Amino acid sequence: MKTLGLYLHIPFCRSKCLYCDFCSFPKRDTELHAAYTTALCNDLKSRASDCTSHTVDTVYLGGGTPTLLSPALLNQILDTIHRCYRVSQNAEITLECNPATADRDAMFSLRRAGFNRISIGLQSTHAKELQALGRLHSFSDFESTFSDARDAGFENISADLMFGIPHQTAESYLTSIQRLSELSPEHISAYGLTVEPDTPFGKMGDRLILPDEEETEKMYFVGIALLSSNGYTQYEISNFAKHGYESRHNLKYWNCEEYLGFGPAAYSDFGGSRFGNSRDLVSYVEGKKILAESEAPSSMERINEYVMLRLRLVEGLDTEAFFNRFGVNFDPLFAPVLHRYEKVGFVRKTPHGWAFTAKGFYVSNHILSELLDFSK
Ligand code: SF4
Repeated sequence: MKTLGLYLHIPFCRSKCLYCDFCSFPKRDTELHAAYTTALCNDLKSRASDCTSHTVDTVYLGGGTPTLLSPALLNQILDTIHRCYRVSQNAEITLECNPATADRDAMFSLRRAGFNRISIGLQSTHAKELQALGRLHSFSDFESTFSDARDAGFENISADLMFGIPHQTAESYLTSIQRLSELSPEHISAYGLTVEPDTPFGKMGDRLILPDEEETEKMYFVGIALLSSNGYTQYEISNFAKHGYESRHNLKYWNCEEYLGFGPAAYSDFGGSRFGNSRDLVSYVEGKKILAESEAPSSMERINEYVMLRLRLVEGLDTEAFFNRFGVNFDPLFAPVLHRYEKVGFVRKTPHGWAFTAKGFYVSNHILSELLDFSK
């Protein structure tokens, strides 16, 4: 029996953060939320017959802010999944959440319904930095949401931090890591800010004042060191976990395993094809198909994708697993470039293959663009 991850996109937020390029709409209309849930559940039902030879072992409700939907609607989605798909007993079932968007009763209801992992967007513990990002919550909102989740029985909690954001220094970033670590979440994601063109940040041009390159680099490296000394092992460029709490759903993406995405802007990799939906919320709610792209990647595209995603992981790429998957040897294709970067400490040989070093992760986009020919 093959395994499958399900991603359900919930595209609603209280307001739009200034850096956000995700498909999310600042809509709190409860009728729209109910209609969206109905459309999502119908979509889940209509695709279930394609998955009779799969067992769902991860479910991820992301956004957006899924907890803007009422617990009753979120439970309806989970219930539909359980009725229409074979879900393994120990499936990881994650719900993304923003501080102050789910109260204590909601947390208890969601835990009872079967959600067993919560991922909370914190970004920073400093009011000034949160305001600069356009976030509506405080650190104390995060602490309340976190403790409600714990009291409700969530034993697997993740939190997101960002570095390279306005007003931030390496010192303030370390304080954010330290305060968050003291709450002892099982998992921490720490992302560098990317300024996307179609966002308020992207449109600010020179008026957007960010920490300089040297300070941002320092944040990255001192951040990893502090997370490590606080018991969080880096397993992916931006992800850190206590032992055994790596995100099983996100590992599916990095391991190029099958997943199905539902909702606007959701992507899928299933049955040998990749396909993605448009951002057309209105059509989706009306029950229309919103497929925007679909392709059966060539074997070279699959190889490039596998190399790029596996090298995001600290354990790197296993050349024997690569051969077993693609029937071609890895080293003749990629080792000449990797050896060059090995000499300058960006890449390391592992007992089974290749991996980036911490220094290499920081410049991995550059190295990957040289390593992989995306024109094939
Ligand atoms: S909460 Fe997340 S998805 Fe919503 S606007 Fe902010 S960054 Fe975007």
